[in-house]
Amino acid sequence: MDRRSFFKAAGAAVAAGSAACPAAARGNKELPPDAVGLLFDSTLCVGCKACVAACKEANGMPVEVSTADALWDTPLDISGKTLNVIKVYKNGTPEVKDREENGYAFSKKSCLHCVDPSCVSACPVKAMKKDEKTGVVSYNKDACIGCRYCVAACPFGVPRFTYDSATPVISKCQLCQHRWPEGKYAACAEVCPTGATLFGKVSDIKTEIARRKALKPGTPTQFPRGRLGGPDQSYEAPVAKYVDHVYGEKEVGGTQMMMLAGVSFDKLGYPALPETSFASQSETLQHTLYGGLVLPVAFLGALTWVAKRNVKPEDGEQGDSHGA
Ligand code: SF4
Ligand code: SF4
Ligand code: SF4
Repeated sequence: MDRRSFFKAAGAAVAAGSAACPAAARGNKELPPDAVGLLFDSTLCVGCKACVAACKEANGMPVEVSTADALWDTPLDISGKTLNVIKVYKNGTPEVKDREENGYAFSKKSCLHCVDPSCVSACPVKAMKKDEKTGVVSYNKDACIGCRYCVAACPFGVPRFTYDSATPVISKCQLCQHRWPEGKYAACAEVCPTGATLFGKVSDIKTEIARRKALKPGTPTQFPRGRLGGPDQSYEAPVAKYVDHVYGEKEVGGTQMMMLAGVSFDKLGYPALPETSFASQSETLQHTLYGGLVLPVAFLGALTWVAKRNVKPEDGEQGDSHGA
């Protein structure tokens, strides 16, 4: 049986199982009411990378020199030494910001703190956990067994395994939770000079996104900096023309870091993803297949049927059936 046939059979069994046992299927998980997260507005980002440096300082991460002659910290991607990175999209002669042709735009890469995270669902020992109140997805290195299922499961390629360490761990943004008891918040948002990275309650972030998107491009607008609901650090600038897509609003059931941009998100390196979370799909599959005695039998029956259909008779058998 080839891969395609296997997945076809598995799909048929799951569909049959779900119909027979609807309680096994689950939908996307809900956003916790007090969830916090980040808004990244690519049109406000000037590429200064203060957020990258602040993230490293706040999390005790070392510099990462990508070329032998580099004079400063030059991470090219997130890694065991870098939890947050700013990348640039450029096209042709990159002259105009937030333009796809002959333009450029910035993107931020860090954990998106998914509403229904695949990393949490895939982790067999609960080393990845989503906080019930804040929704922050955190990592417990003491519980981790190093299986790296979370690395494979994350649709955004976020968790990194520190292979070069004698005691490897998973590395990813935890929204600077360790700073909260001191009244601080995400270091990347705290230092951002333009408010391109903004911290806040997800409900407030959604309101702010709707406000920006409702404005006519070019309208002078007050942009908050730092933390939504915190001390007023706002400044005035014309609002940009946004593409008609809020990344993270619906992708894999939604994320707690959401993004606005002036160029399409595929250009910025964000993958096109379904609205159904991968966690709900995989858990539905597991529960369907193992939730009752009838369903594994249905699954095996479907596999057997496809296998039999795909088995070609041996030469000798062909002779028997056609030759005598
Ligand atoms: S600090 Fe703000 S403006 Fe500077 S690179 Fe980071 S997100 Fe962009
Ligand atoms: S972006 Fe990846 S690592 Fe972060 S919460 Fe979502 S699945 Fe987990
Ligand atoms: S919230 Fe903290 S750990 Fe996460 S990207 Fe921002 S500075 Fe880095």
